Amino acid sequence: MLCEICGTDVEGIMLLPIKHPDGRLETLSCLLCAKKSKNYCLKHEIPHVGFVGDDTTACHVCINELVMEGLGRSDSLVDIMSTVLPSQEWMKIHLWLKMIVGLTNDSAEKCLLRAFITKQLRMKAGSIDVVIHMVVDGNSADPILP
Ligand SMILES: [Zn+2]
Ligand SMILES: [Zn+2]
Repeated sequence: MLCEICGTDVEGIMLLPIKHPDGRLETLSCLLCAKKSKNYCLKHEIPHVGFVGDDTTACHVCINELVMEGLGRSDSLVDIMSTVLPSQEWMKIHLWLKMIVGLTNDSAEKCLLRAFITKQLRMKAGSIDVVIHMVVDGNSADPILP
């Protein structure tokens, strides 16, 4: 198969979450081009997943790892957000959490943590605190909601 990035005919081809000019949401890529692109996780050796609405991508295994680490946080994101955000912004998060907790059977804290960490990796921010500040300083739930 032909790599749509470098044009080389290779056996091992993978789909990268790069929007293709013909409208497809993914592009066929050889391993070499994948590794050179920012849409491939070198640590886990898998393509990133893409998101609706923009061109950002993130590795879903990296997200899970950081979520597991983050569950050890001493301060609860649910507590922080329900305390500091204006009530209509917290209500948006609350309603979204209700739905997503029902879908995943994960705790509200874990689902909220995943939302913050997904945003962190999509922004390529070094720490979840960057996203927490963005939400708190902006008084808006929008950065972390789909
Ligand atoms: Zn290639
Ligand atoms: Zn990864």
